[in-house]
Amino acid sequence: MLSLSRLEAGELRLEREPFELRAYLADESKLLEALAAEQGLALTLTVDPAVPEWVEGDAVRFGQVLYNLANNAIKFTEQGSVTITVAPADGDDRLLVAVTDTGPGISETDQQRIFRAFTQGDDVFRRQEGSGLGLTICKELVRLMGGELGVQSTPGAGATFHFTARLPATEPPADGDAAPAAAPTAKGAATDAPLQVLVAEDEPTNALLIRTLLEQQTCRVTVVEDGEAVVAQWERERPDLLLLDVQMPGMDGCQALGILREREAQRGWSRTPVVMCTAHAVEQVWEDCARQGSDATLTKPLDRDELARVLEWVRRGGTGRG
Ligand code: ADP
Repeated sequence: MLSLSRLEAGELRLEREPFELRAYLADESKLLEALAAEQGLALTLTVDPAVPEWVEGDAVRFGQVLYNLANNAIKFTEQGSVTITVAPADGDDRLLVAVTDTGPGISETDQQRIFRAFTQGDDVFRRQEGSGLGLTICKELVRLMGGELGVQSTPGAGATFHFTARLPATEPPADGDAAPAAAPTAKGAATDAPLQVLVAEDEPTNALLIRTLLEQQTCRVTVVEDGEAVVAQWERERPDLLLLDVQMPGMDGCQALGILREREAQRGWSRTPVVMCTAHAVEQVWEDCARQGSDATLTKPLDRDELARVLEWVRRGGTGRG
């Protein structure tokens, strides 16, 4: 889980792994277009031909920053468009990403303030929608990527958020070590290798609880906080099990699940067992999730025995309804 306190403590280390930047951006633009379209906005993403196919860096963190900026642009813009460009930065070897919207813009005073919000001892445990933590975290992540995040805006005439990042071109990994492995997901009955579990939960206390329960049952756990990060992390990690919170900021669990199932089908990947979690056991929600391809549902707070049954089911191959 990414928290400001962890960032401030310098505990966060970014990955340096090859990832397919152009393909990633192409997928991402479809997703963002859909988000924008829901609000009647046009979204275009233009990638300069000089942007490399494969780069070395942290795909999840890069995606998190891009998504945050794009999501803000969509959220604050009532009509018009959102334009994203990715190109080599002028006069250095970094990439420059710019997200421009036709929204209300940001006053000069606020331009100073928005990146500094909640810098004094705040942490993710107090996070709320609209807490202003997003840009503060983005700024720090961008710094860790060797770049800078800034904004230009004329109030009333939209805003452009731009960041640079050091993502050097690299060769595609040799066959077999590509980041999203095409190997089958379920470990099968014969092995008791620890299960890799990806948890999508934006509420920190719940996230901590789920992590603890899973780790007690010898799972390896990764926690992400929103639907966008789920899709990116799932692609990298290909977990044995995904526990997906139904309600998350930005893209909700159900939407994320739909995208994930679509990508599995497109790529011929094995099916990741997915268990939806929610505090509000509304039948309609369960039905919607099942239609998107969930395998089981759990009510929060999660029960230790129920979770154990889910893990057992995954260890046995995770097929059929749990
Ligand atoms: P949050 O969106 O959760 O408040 P952020 O840190 O992402 O947190 O943004 C902080 C503030 O910056 C927002 O509340 C908003 O006032 C302003 N802001 C961010 N992006 C935009 C944008 N594209 N257009 C106008 N205002 C923005």
